[in-house]
Amino acid sequence: MIRNLRYLGDPILRMKCRRVVAITDEIRAIAQDLLDSMIAHNGSGLAAPQIGFDLAMFAIHVSDENDEYGYPLDQEPMIFINPEIIEASNDTVTDGEGCMSVPGFVAQVTRPRKVKIRAMNLDGEFFTEELQQWRARCVQHETDHTNGILHIDRMSDKLKKKHEHALKTLELHLMKKTSFKGDPFVM
Ligand SMILES: [Zn+2]
Repeated sequence: MIRNLRYLGDPILRMKCRRVVAITDEIRAIAQDLLDSMIAHNGSGLAAPQIGFDLAMFAIHVSDENDEYGYPLDQEPMIFINPEIIEASNDTVTDGEGCMSVPGFVAQVTRPRKVKIRAMNLDGEFFTEELQQWRARCVQHETDHTNGILHIDRMSDKLKKKHEHALKTLELHLMKKTSFKGDPFVM
């Protein structure tokens, strides 16, 4: 089911999400909603709180490779449950990052270039995956969502100050909206 997105200002985006204790029909249904909503809203990734569930799970479908416009290509969608970043490279990269819950705003965020993530799949099995480039950025962004952290929190203090007013204005505007079509690279 395609669900409406939750936006900046919605308290659910600031909650530390509950861990999933068992793969039930409800969890499988939420996973499907994540996939349907991610595709429908044109996102590269989507976390459960963004569609109204305070559960530590997310979907991504982004690859490491770029298209001719510099946007990441899509890859087979994947679900991550109870995600944990267990390793991160010292080597970092700073890039513009969008979020479907903060539409129209691109934040410059510095993150490790490579990470190793541990998570559970829909069969209830744990797996680890090493990711780099866009996929690494995307899983860090989505894992942050499961901890109530947004990409705007990851900007430098200087940028936070610079964009404070614009973000406050956007938040007031978003609180009046119920649906918004995402930007090309948002998660
Ligand atoms: Zn996001």
